[in-house]
Amino acid sequence: MSLDRNKIVVMKFGGTSVEDAAAITRTAAIVEGRLALGLRPLVVVSAMAKVTDHLLAAADAAGTGQRSGALAISARMRTRHAETAGSLLGPAQGGTIINDLHAEFDSLDDLLRGIAAVGELTPRTTDLVVSFGERLSSRIVTAALARRGVASAHLDARMCIVTTADFGKAVPLEDEIEQRLLKHVLPLLQAGNVPVMGGFIGATVDGITTTLGRGGSDFSAALAGGGLRAGAIEIWTDVDGIMTTDPRIVAEALRVKTISFEEAAELAYFGAKVLHPATILPAVQQNIPVLVLNSRNSSSEGTRITAVAPRCKSPFKCIAIKKRLTIVDIVASRMLMSHGYLKAVFDVFDRHRVAIDMVSTSEVSISVTVDTSDRLPAIAADLQRIADVKYESNKALVCMVGEDIRGHNGIAGKVFTAVQHVNVRMISQGASEINMSFMIEEEDVPEAVRSLHAAFFTDPDPAIFDLTNRSAGATLAPA
Ligand code: ADP
Ligand code: ASP
Ligand code: MG
Repeated sequence: MSLDRNKIVVMKFGGTSVEDAAAITRTAAIVEGRLALGLRPLVVVSAMAKVTDHLLAAADAAGTGQRSGALAISARMRTRHAETAGSLLGPAQGGTIINDLHAEFDSLDDLLRGIAAVGELTPRTTDLVVSFGERLSSRIVTAALARRGVASAHLDARMCIVTTADFGKAVPLEDEIEQRLLKHVLPLLQAGNVPVMGGFIGATVDGITTTLGRGGSDFSAALAGGGLRAGAIEIWTDVDGIMTTDPRIVAEALRVKTISFEEAAELAYFGAKVLHPATILPAVQQNIPVLVLNSRNSSSEGTRITAVAPRCKSPFKCIAIKKRLTIVDIVASRMLMSHGYLKAVFDVFDRHRVAIDMVSTSEVSISVTVDTSDRLPAIAADLQRIADVKYESNKALVCMVGEDIRGHNGIAGKVFTAVQHVNVRMISQGASEINMSFMIEEEDVPEAVRSLHAAFFTDPDPAIFDLTNRSAGATLAPA
């Protein structure tokens, strides 16, 4: 039977959308709703909320020889998964899946014991440990759908999401992924099944488990949507869509109804956790609409990410915040800014595989920001050969994004008036022309973002922002 690919909808559910039996029940009902509309869902799920963090903690404990600590973390997760499956499926139907979950946890425990015995944790083993989160949640969701009478089929993501061996942040091999999707997923969809796979995880061509980086389930969904030429990609999360800023910081944040691919990519890159930075690209390349939706409030229209942004009366759509950054000041000691000097500096960061977010230069000094601190002593030692180096952590980047910055005069003045009471360290008008960013102290973030939000979103354009429910997201606990 041939299948109209436009009817395929990739539905990605984040950690909070599968965090317990109640959330999984809501998620299953949302999938049924799409089926009822005649659509063909492919479900991609994250690990249950916080499970990836717990798995990393268990791996770290094992890696430093704390065998019983690691096994205790695993035991708590075992109970949580088994109880969730039990309450969703009941003792009779839950039996098989609970046995499967125990078998998975037995192998996780073997792995943790092995790591503790060796006393060394490699990136490759870390990926194998964290992969359990999505492997487990996807099994539970498959069973929960089946229990409701949906013909669901579990799919091991590692059969389809083929990547390089860059453990911890593997790069997907899109041609290979497309081949695998056509081979393993399309037939399931054609047969009327709902495939369910874990996001975030993949494998090399040789079958070694990898991960796509934190928050990577969004990326898996976009890769699946791109490879299958799906009609839409839906990112289901715990807020009403992309908001004017993180609703945990500003409770009055408004839902943005539509945003361009370019703006969304910029926002994600600059720290809006709601979307993984790499998500947009596979979808843009094929012009597949991406929607961000709330699994706790499925009737909300969410945010539609479109190729071209409709015009907005105000310059900005969103304020993104990226925390835990470090500013590195590099002062040329001898050679001033001679030819090749900048390259020499950047080469050092490159060698340590640390990406730079922002750069500013003067005649004798360069300041850059990076989002790592563990590799900084080594970087500073290398830089010391060509410069004097100082670095300061606990900085945050505030990034104001909007295509309509173009054509508005005097914006910088208004931005800096709004934050005149905070100490601004570095300023950049983004190279993309659609963002304006600056660095502040992490502790000043709530104050600065509230002031900016008040200054730029008092008279929001109703064509772009949802004004009906100004308190959406306000029920969230502070991050
Ligand atoms: P998931 O587990 O569904 O992937 P995430 O925690 O990764 O969810 O992303 C959703 C969270 O992103 C929200 O709860 C919110 O606190 C945060 N967030 C940050 N910036 C924004 C923004 N501009 N719009 C919406 N949410 C945002
Ligand atoms: N579970 C992974 C994480 O917490 C991936 C994801 O949720 O997108 O980072
Ligand atoms: Mg996420």
